[in-house]
Amino acid sequence: LKAAVMDTDGVSVKVDKQQPTSESSVKKSKLNEDRKDLPIYPYKDALLQAVQDHQVLIIVGETGSGKTTQIPQYLHEAGYTKNGGKIGCTQPRRVAAMRVAARVSHEMRVKLGHQVGYSIRFEDCTSEKTVLKYMTDGMLLREFLREPDLASYSVIMVDEAHERTLSTDVLFGLVKDVARARPDLKLLISSATLDAEKFSDYFDCAPIFKIPGRRFPIDIHHTKAPIADYVDAAVVTALQIHATQPQGDGDILIFLTGQEEIETAESIIKHRIKGLGTKIAELITCPIYANLPAELQAKIFEPTPEGARKVVLATNIAETSLTIDGIKYVIDTGFCKIMCYNPRTGTESLLVAPISKASANQRAGRSGRTGPGKCFRLYTAHSYMNDLEDNTIPEIQRTNLANVVLLLKSLGIKDLLNFDFMDRPPTEALLKALELLFALGALDEDGKLTKVGEKMAEFPLDPMLSKMIVASDKYKCSAEIISIAAMLSVGNSVFYRPKDRQVQADNAWMNFHIGNVGDHIALLKVYNSWKEINFSTQWCYENYIQVRSMKIARDIRDQLEGLLERVGIELNSNVNDLEVVKKSIISGFFPHAARLQKSGSYRTVKHPQTGHIHPSSGLSQVLPRWVVYHELVLTTKEYMRQVTELKPEWLVEVAPHYYQLKDVEDSSSKKMPRGIGLASYK
Ligand code: ADP
Ligand code: MG
Repeated sequence: LKAAVMDTDGVSVKVDKQQPTSESSVKKSKLNEDRKDLPIYPYKDALLQAVQDHQVLIIVGETGSGKTTQIPQYLHEAGYTKNGGKIGCTQPRRVAAMRVAARVSHEMRVKLGHQVGYSIRFEDCTSEKTVLKYMTDGMLLREFLREPDLASYSVIMVDEAHERTLSTDVLFGLVKDVARARPDLKLLISSATLDAEKFSDYFDCAPIFKIPGRRFPIDIHHTKAPIADYVDAAVVTALQIHATQPQGDGDILIFLTGQEEIETAESIIKHRIKGLGTKIAELITCPIYANLPAELQAKIFEPTPEGARKVVLATNIAETSLTIDGIKYVIDTGFCKIMCYNPRTGTESLLVAPISKASANQRAGRSGRTGPGKCFRLYTAHSYMNDLEDNTIPEIQRTNLANVVLLLKSLGIKDLLNFDFMDRPPTEALLKALELLFALGALDEDGKLTKVGEKMAEFPLDPMLSKMIVASDKYKCSAEIISIAAMLSVGNSVFYRPKDRQVQADNAWMNFHIGNVGDHIALLKVYNSWKEINFSTQWCYENYIQVRSMKIARDIRDQLEGLLERVGIELNSNVNDLEVVKKSIISGFFPHAARLQKSGSYRTVKHPQTGHIHPSSGLSQVLPRWVVYHELVLTTKEYMRQVTELKPEWLVEVAPHYYQLKDVEDSSSKKMPRGIGLASYK
């Protein structure tokens, strides 16, 4: 048994002869040895000393050096939680918060959720016992609403600071302020890149603590010519590596942009590997992306069985947030998904965009952690030099700010234009956010938070969604609206369509879209039908509905129901009157009202933005004259996802300050009765 443990891990395990040599004690001592093997370990005492000597410390160390998993443990062992204060560690990504907490609880041999826990949106896995709390940066931001001085924390570690997410950037301003007011609070800012001076400058010249990394040489290869289909090229490269490199000499990590690509690549690999015959060693595919169910996430960390090879298919998450041991080959497609915001039109879209040079170098670095590595870039050296930006633009400069502006307003910060941002957001985007919040009724003319705004801020949702919920109070349909809000948050993964049963799946889908009710109502019908049948799993199978998504939606809905009570909105059901449900939706989403054009595309009324109804929508063949959409995504075209038909008069009724009759007058509707218009557009 001992031998097996040693063999698969490839590390010799010291087992004290006096100790019982049960499997678990071998594992335990192996865990301790592993902890001592990390690059950070020799600097433990120096680090603790630095934390003691300085209130704010910038920590820099390469990915995998042990910052995230070890530092909170060191501080805990050194007594920083003794007086009841917690150590909070923020992560930009949900998956990272969960995985890291799981790892640390394992190292400390405690149950996840007890001393070590995590908190991500709609999922709180902590208890009163929790002293090491990993959380998303967005969750810590929301904690300011309940506890503006973070009194329950003795240490805050803003981790992965180099990622510069919107929430992390806002946190910088807030924690800097709290640290001034609370000399007892320790503040650590940790980053995987070397440009720490900027953080130091911002935090009043805080000292920088560098953890020297261990790096092996990495061989970087570029393609000779640009590549059209990078998913296919990545798969081909991975299979070539697997077939030609020595068996079991190291695993492969492929960077792709999202779940869809990862699933495609995974199925191509599985299919092609069969065609390579039986002489080829086993190739295990391990996907990892934000929405991957927790029980499948752990698979990427399992040691690769002897003789086999693992290929990890990951998004950006594996760039710095998660370290996977044993990677020798990195395949970098050169792209990632980023949120882009157009302040002119107020629209946001998730785009596939080229990565930065800094990202490309981080990705390559993942191959050289435990030995010499190889990185295959699926773009040319010329493209690397000339097309890639040096650094990724901080999110705060390219995103919709409505959410954080509402939060900052709720925290009583009046003058946002002079908030202490590390990098200022564009003034135009700030003004746009204020304008939207004013239109939604969250702010008054003086920019002060209104009663509606106070209620909206309680919901961990986008302001338009929160407004839709708050408005449902008036229409007495809050029960329906929170179901819709919950379903929208899993919206694109509700229905599924297996290749061999497409007809059956389409028929099931049709059932929920009868009468062209629109996507919001269809989602409501799915939820209500599932509830009626006691949340049956069987029913989901029969209706080609993803049971996992439904369970998430149910959890979210439960929490929204709790929040309704908190803000004093009664839970009312009005399921027979779909008009009021639609009016509630429009109360939040009226800026997304769009009118059909002759070309078959749609155009929003104010701040013109065009888009097409997404083919997955129940209305994509119907093309109603007026619609409201939930989100706009840019793929090959601009697509509106989750669409509902509306009557233009409703816009004037629901948002009279935003729409006047002349905006929504529809001259052609006088000539053509509704519903007949379609033919003439085709
Ligand atoms: P950093 O934050 O500096 O990038 P981490 O503390 O996340 O480093 O990781 C340190 C090491 O801990 C990794 O190199 C890896 O060996 C190990 N590790 C971290 N998370 C896990 C996990 N979930 N499963 C197995 N090993 C892990
Ligand atoms: Mg880390």
